Amino acid sequence: MSVVPVCYPERTIRYMNITFEPIGFIHSPFKEKFGIPRQPGLVPEARASLELVPPYNRPEAVAELEGYSHVWIQFVFHQILHEQWRPRVRPPRLGGNRRVGVFASRSPFRPNPIGLSVVALERVVVDGDRVVLELSGVDLLDATPVLDIKPYIAYVDSIPDAVSGFAPSAPDLRLEVGFSELAEGQLEAREDGAALRPLITRLLGLDPRPAYAAEDGRVYGFRLHDFDLRWQVDGDQVQVLELRPASSS
Ligand code: SAH
Repeated sequence: MSVVPVCYPERTIRYMNITFEPIGFIHSPFKEKFGIPRQPGLVPEARASLELVPPYNRPEAVAELEGYSHVWIQFVFHQILHEQWRPRVRPPRLGGNRRVGVFASRSPFRPNPIGLSVVALERVVVDGDRVVLELSGVDLLDATPVLDIKPYIAYVDSIPDAVSGFAPSAPDLRLEVGFSELAEGQLEAREDGAALRPLITRLLGLDPRPAYAAEDGRVYGFRLHDFDLRWQVDGDQVQVLELRPASSS
């Protein structure tokens, strides 16, 4: 047997410039970063769809995918594409006051701003050249470009006794959510009101405020669907004040 020296193409790797093309885009109720769940699965009520674009919208490309309950979505953090990455980040999970290495975090501010989320696959819809995956439990901004889809395979991807550093378990639902009379009426008047209520309840129950800006009494807002959700925290209670129609859609 002869030993062949391995030539590691260091230069090539260092200067390699890789171009990827999105295979599809996300349609999600989350229209801005603030308010989006911090990880997938935390808000099962958060539904979105992934629409494949030409030339990837081929029904054959998703054949048998419906046999999986969950998929991995690889995507681009497109809204922060031009922001600088830093070797250390402050994860919200640590209250924003402790720094860890970027590679020990799931921060979007990475050298290559690529995201990875495991989400539930509710349905695969194929209608002519429309190929759409209906998803739930997403942490994805509207219009997110998607690079790849892979089936979640439990025996490979699930490691129940894995050790998870500074994030050993899911964050608590720490706030109790109530709705003002105005918000109640606005929910009732909407066709999607029945689905919106549990979505809003879970989103706000997890307390989306950044720790450094968490103030009682302050009115916070973020855009969801076609409205600005306005809310206020008092101790461990959060009150939904209003679903204010957004000025621009
Ligand atoms: N599960 C993914 C993402 C974790 S960070 C991963 O681990 O790689 C999740 C946060 O990314 C969300 O709370 C939201 O604020 C942000 N986000 C989601 N989609 C984004 C996008 N397209 N561009 C920029 N930020 C995005």
